[in-house]
Amino acid sequence: MPTTPACIFCRILTGEAEASLVYEDENLAAFLDIFPMVHGHSLVVPRRHLAGLADLDSDLGGKMIDAGRKLATAMRPALGCQGVNLFLADGTAAGQTVFHVHLHVLPRSGGDGFGLRRGLHSPPARHELEEQARRLRKALGSPS
Ligand SMILES: [Zn+2]
Repeated sequence: MPTTPACIFCRILTGEAEASLVYEDENLAAFLDIFPMVHGHSLVVPRRHLAGLADLDSDLGGKMIDAGRKLATAMRPALGCQGVNLFLADGTAAGQTVFHVHLHVLPRSGGDGFGLRRGLHSPPARHELEEQARRLRKALGSPS
């Protein structure tokens, strides 16, 4: 599998850097985040160095989500959590700091202090939503 020596996740995957592994198969590995946001915070990464979401094909993306689902199911009995968040930061503006695509699997319990900082906004005008939806459909190649 192609790896990039400067990438910390590639170094973990080749055994050059230390990590606490929680899952692996031929395409993916998952290990505990060295800077956990919550107890048990895990990362699912493809074995191949791919920087972001646009580099994933549907098959590998689906496998990442499925690995996250398996981990989430295992976290409840193993860690005693009450819920799980899946989170993927794609790009600097979204908070991605390691440019080897990874899915955060965050076990959650009431009062753990984790959460999205921004509250809900009031709903935009329908025409604004329709314009955003039209732009997205166009970018997706869907007929408008
Ligand atoms: Zn990498």
